[in-house]
Amino acid sequence: MENETVSRNFIEQIIDKDLEEGAYESICTRFPPEPNGYLHIGHAKSILLNYGLAQQYKGQFNMRFDDTNPTKEKVEFVESIKEDIQWLGADWGDHLYFASDYFDRMYEAAVELIKKGKAYVCDLSADEIREYRGTLKEPGKESPYRNRSVEENLKLFEAMKNGEVENGAKVLRAKIDMASPNMNMRDPVIYRVARMSHHRTGDKWCIYPMYDFAHPLEDAFEGVTHSICTLEFEDHRPLYDWVVREVGFEHPPKQIEFAKLYLTNVVTGKRYIKKLVEDGIVDGWDDPRLVSIAALRRRGFTPESIKLFVELCGVSKANSSVDYAMLEYCIREDLKMKKPRMMAVLEPVKLVIDNYPEDQVEYLDVANNMENPELGSRKVPFGRELYIEREDFMEVPPRKYFRLFPGNEVRLMNAYFVKCESFVKDENGNVTEVHCTYDPETKCGSGFTGRKVKGTIHWVPAKQAIQAEVRLYENIIDEEKGVYNEDGSLNLNPNSLTVLKNCYMEPALADAKAYDSFQFVRNGYFCVDSKDSKEGVPVFNRIVSLKSSFKLPKA
Ligand code: ATP
Ligand code: MG
Repeated sequence: MENETVSRNFIEQIIDKDLEEGAYESICTRFPPEPNGYLHIGHAKSILLNYGLAQQYKGQFNMRFDDTNPTKEKVEFVESIKEDIQWLGADWGDHLYFASDYFDRMYEAAVELIKKGKAYVCDLSADEIREYRGTLKEPGKESPYRNRSVEENLKLFEAMKNGEVENGAKVLRAKIDMASPNMNMRDPVIYRVARMSHHRTGDKWCIYPMYDFAHPLEDAFEGVTHSICTLEFEDHRPLYDWVVREVGFEHPPKQIEFAKLYLTNVVTGKRYIKKLVEDGIVDGWDDPRLVSIAALRRRGFTPESIKLFVELCGVSKANSSVDYAMLEYCIREDLKMKKPRMMAVLEPVKLVIDNYPEDQVEYLDVANNMENPELGSRKVPFGRELYIEREDFMEVPPRKYFRLFPGNEVRLMNAYFVKCESFVKDENGNVTEVHCTYDPETKCGSGFTGRKVKGTIHWVPAKQAIQAEVRLYENIIDEEKGVYNEDGSLNLNPNSLTVLKNCYMEPALADAKAYDSFQFVRNGYFCVDSKDSKEGVPVFNRIVSLKSSFKLPKA
């Protein structure tokens, strides 16, 4: 093979340069979620990006909970986040950290800033601070408390820490520049009083650091070299750099921003997912219509499919939305060769083969995956009575309908040719039975080379089939009509869930376990639901249908 130059993304180019110039000896990345909800597909991108870079450069990957805001954080979320990251295959080894473990060091850093004259205690209210901040066009005004002495600031900050100050009565602010064109540099608040319990530090602290102060410190304490975040933090970078510089780190981390991953037709923002969960519109954070990682897992997506998806998305500096169909493409690609192709009838109607011996059962040999012989074969019972899809029979066929209709012959997949002779209707005019005759000469695999038929349909044996529930999904948001309604509520697709209670499947599927997945021929890929399946009575989620108009964008 020729020497191939693989094009490097802009983050790899920055890292290459840093290593070349000796800015760092080796790299350290991190994933820093706030434990205030479940992770979603966008976070998966960030996790796989950070973990992937650490692996690629033989560096270190840290898992750090950014738990500096006790109002919204919960242990439940810490556990779910760990589970999701492990499932994705990102291994943090011994490097699991909590920002709350650094509260003492952060406090000391703030005291240092006060001593350097770089931070002060301010008594303005939140509203006043906002007012004093100015606008993009006008500079801000200095706080009347800005020139407090170091001694006074130290004393007041300690009083804040000791719980002697009401919530909101005082804050600690960085002393930077009220006239900076960057609003984030206009003396940002770096500590606030919040007399509340924290899920890890309990009642030890009455003050909590603000994100823009805490985050660079967390990175620097851990020796992170490349702190990768999303674009909305670009304007915060000067403050990030200010903090690590003023606190005095020798090899300060470098913040790099990339564009968030957005997907069409789904909800990614934690806030919105939370609302759907709280309003009871979905069945929890792992409802298969969501794109939280827990939901994708429950629906039947695999870590490999998500990795492929993230790779295809690439990293960029420009915000855009990726077509949901690309995610579907990735799961099809992953399952195509790996999963057995089984027969399941989702909307059944009975088919009777009038000339087939009443009590006879044949066990037909069926390849599990025609494209992958390694998956072996199985036996499927065949008899006089079968179920077929209701839509595979029509009393009056439209043009180009090659399935069953009176007088027409089709192949029963893996079995015989059958010819439709008659049908039975109930009093409402619904077809209840389709009657056929079969030709014993046409057995699949018998070498029969006689006449041809245009249609092949799948079936299950009526006597041995298991009955199971199947759930079909559509995107939860009807994006064609816009994500939001006029009143700001989400524009939900009323058909996002269809429950089919009366499906029939090959008996082998009775043993399917939670998370097992299969192709059901002609109907798509399905996964055993981990929440609602019972021993011997699986419930199947459709992961994705088989067909798509999606084409991979040309590189
Ligand atoms: P959300 O906006 O969904 O609430 P968040 O950014 O508040 O997400 P955090 O827990 O703060 O969630 O994020 C952890 C990491 O994941 C951050 O580094 C953040 O930049 C990254 N991240 C969040 N959303 C996306 C996304 N859509 N695409 C890529 N990375 C993301
Ligand atoms: Mg956040």
